Amino acid sequence: MTKSSRPDPFFIADHPALDFLNSVAAPSGTEFEWLDSGLDLINWLQHADLVPNNVLTRFKNETDNSKLDTVAAQARELREWFRAIIKTNAGKTIQSVEISSVDPINALLASDNSFHQLTPSDKSNFNNTQASTQFAMKLSRQWNSPDSLLIPLAEILADLICQTDFTYIKNCEGPSCTLWFHDISKNHGRRWCSMAVCGNRAKAAAHRAKKLSVCN
Ligand SMILES: [Zn+2]
Repeated sequence: MTKSSRPDPFFIADHPALDFLNSVAAPSGTEFEWLDSGLDLINWLQHADLVPNNVLTRFKNETDNSKLDTVAAQARELREWFRAIIKTNAGKTIQSVEISSVDPINALLASDNSFHQLTPSDKSNFNNTQASTQFAMKLSRQWNSPDSLLIPLAEILADLICQTDFTYIKNCEGPSCTLWFHDISKNHGRRWCSMAVCGNRAKAAAHRAKKLSVCN
């Protein structure tokens, strides 16, 4: 499978942590890996809007590819470790979890180097960089090393654990589909990663089965 035939990564999960799990997927039976290399990771983080573009460009231009590849391998390891937690707990209220079992997330969060800055928030004065009448606190981060690219990943996983009812974390019902999503629909009736990929395929299969039973 050449990279040119790989589609853009999927962002259909309604939670970034599940989009992260979906960065390897086989929506039509063929598996695609969107975090194969360091440059892949940078590309995926850009699509996910998790890291400022200027930071990604700096790492892309100034870091050895082999170092970035190592970070991508760590991201894949984090992803597969988290997939096991989701597989065990999805579809039901999360069971009691030993604190030590979220150590990989806490270790990454502990390596964070973030800080707040006062930034102008006066929209009517948006183009005036010299002065403002209103300010807001904005979280920034010192992106000191390529390893810091893993911190926003730890943050989205932590957010899923803290904020999401695992009852509504679902795997697409497509028989060969591995995509996860958070069902935020009103009646919690979402069944597919997307109608375009698996929903229509299921509809067509149901239609074929109906036709067959009519013929019989
Ligand atoms: Zn699907």
